[in-house]
Amino acid sequence: MSIQLIEHVNVDTSSDDITTIKIYTNKNLEKIPQIHHIPKQILFDIKVVSLVLPFRVNNYVLSELIDWKKVPNDPMFQLTFPNKDMLTSEHYEEIACAIRQNSSKPALDNIIKRIRTTLNPHPAGQLEKNIPMVDDKYLDGIQHKYDQTVLFFPAAGQTCHSYCTFCFRWAQFIDDYDLKIAAKEVEELMHYLRDKPFITDVLITGGDPMVMKARYIKAYLEPFLSEELDHIKNIRIGTKSLSFWPQRFVSDADADDLLELFKRVKEKGKNIALMAHYNHFKELDTPVAVQAIKRIQSTGVTIRSQGPLLKHINDDVETWAKLWQKQIALGIVPYYMFVERDTGAKKYFEVPLYKAWSIYQQAIQKVGGLSRTVRGPSMSTDPGKVEVLGTNKVNGEKVFILRFIQARDPDWAYRPFFAKYSETATWLNDLKPLEGNTFFFEQVMKVSSMYNRDMNRSK
Ligand code: SF4
Repeated sequence: MSIQLIEHVNVDTSSDDITTIKIYTNKNLEKIPQIHHIPKQILFDIKVVSLVLPFRVNNYVLSELIDWKKVPNDPMFQLTFPNKDMLTSEHYEEIACAIRQNSSKPALDNIIKRIRTTLNPHPAGQLEKNIPMVDDKYLDGIQHKYDQTVLFFPAAGQTCHSYCTFCFRWAQFIDDYDLKIAAKEVEELMHYLRDKPFITDVLITGGDPMVMKARYIKAYLEPFLSEELDHIKNIRIGTKSLSFWPQRFVSDADADDLLELFKRVKEKGKNIALMAHYNHFKELDTPVAVQAIKRIQSTGVTIRSQGPLLKHINDDVETWAKLWQKQIALGIVPYYMFVERDTGAKKYFEVPLYKAWSIYQQAIQKVGGLSRTVRGPSMSTDPGKVEVLGTNKVNGEKVFILRFIQARDPDWAYRPFFAKYSETATWLNDLKPLEGNTFFFEQVMKVSSMYNRDMNRSK
């Protein structure tokens, strides 16, 4: 069975209601009903930056989540609208100049392409290191980095109901086929999983798989019910639809079909968890967002929450404490606070690690035990997921204490290690080991032939 690329959402430009999605991009920016709230210069900046970084927003985000009186500082506006400072001033000027001079499309495209390549479009070795190979063929759309868990990127789910300006998967949305990570056939995934009983979890991700119609999601989920995939116990689905388009589970034409499907897969003994991406408590404030959560939970599916800590959006203690409190009250399990990844507009959103940990540590003090399931701040790096456990002193020297939550070598996990304290470090690469020149895992990572665990094994 092959899955065809589809146009996932019904786009209606005639109606004002928020049960039918209307999509706005840099091609129809002027049609945004709230456009008069955006000053002219900022509008031009949006046009410039959205040529490099993806921009897409919908009518629900515009009318229900953004507080237009607070634009441009409103966190939901910052989350969805590109901003001049997301590019270096040189890159910004180069594109702005080309627009002002009416440069030809090929000339502009060349500039855009060149700038994109400087923005680390595929962080953490995504393209070259994690894609499994079977019979000398790379399995596009599948990533296998940690033993128990396989990531699957269905071809039809490589977009989102709206785009986040900080997105680390931005390179998957741009119109460049070579860079896309997408599966064309579900069989390849099944074939890969069949004889690997050590894989227990599949994470279906994107983009956002929830942009797909229920019948396509069904085509991806149903094969997991077969006996030969009995070892796949947990299906996780990464999504931001609970924030960007909760109507997906409430009023979309196939919302009931989707919930029925969840229920059936659950009843057949598979655990389904929605890994819901949240950045701000405002995303939980609308009646439809709450209704979507309740409807999903009524099927037996659990919802866990995760999202990055971002300057300009949620870099304060109160926002995180309130976010976790609201999630717990709604039955959502707080799961991860991430560190903004080393890609795209990182410079604009990054928060130093010492500050990220301080926000995490202070926010956790304000919430009860049920919220303390949340791990963080965590960096998804090439060697693994590294959590900042805190700071302390070793022989009088201030240090960071870190550990891998997941690692390329399973034996690295949960072993605390030290790094020299720094107030400028925003990512693992910025840190120095306490002793010697390299961290223990760097030796292994540098010489790839030394690291040759076979993910294709059957045991
Ligand atoms: S929802 Fe996720 S994949 Fe989609 S734009 Fe936001 S961060 Fe990127």
